[in-house]
Amino acid sequence: MPLPHAAPLPPRRTIRSLYVHVPFCQTICGYCDFYSQVLDRGSVTPLVDSLLRELDLHTEQYDLQLDTIFVGGGTPTVLPPADLLRLLSRIRELAAPGCEFTVEANPATVTPQIADALAAGGVNRVSIGAQSFDRNELRVLERACGCARKSGSISPRASTHSKSAWLLCRMQQTRST
Ligand code: SF4
Repeated sequence: MPLPHAAPLPPRRTIRSLYVHVPFCQTICGYCDFYSQVLDRGSVTPLVDSLLRELDLHTEQYDLQLDTIFVGGGTPTVLPPADLLRLLSRIRELAAPGCEFTVEANPATVTPQIADALAAGGVNRVSIGAQSFDRNELRVLERACGCARKSGSISPRASTHSKSAWLLCRMQQTRST
């Protein structure tokens, strides 16, 4: 008796965009509503392992051809450089040609080693959460005080990469009225 034909598998859905959330920060800013905790170094490896496992599951389930990738949080650049690079290197394997690969960064956490990890991980856009260039305002915001100029440490390593900076305009408007 001939075997019944198996039903053809449905085509896998193509996914073009990916957001990865890193739920750790150096400190928690008073105004922030995003989900994040103060960095617990003991949780970093399990977090990255879990994210990579989840990526593998999605790779099996979907056809990932990513045109845009955004790794945000939280503060991805608070991760130790080796762990950040481990995460970014796997993600970049899923990028389509010309993909915009962004990582969100707090200038207080961008060391030369982190900048190297961003460049080696294939990141071509860094979203710098400066929020303010005024140290007093940063203190009011209860924000880890890293002068926004520190973000210049990215430039020599990623001179062809684009950068964007977030400023809390509402706060500045409030002060000017
Ligand atoms: S660094 Fe960003 S994500 Fe972290 S607590 Fe401050 S505003 Fe929220």
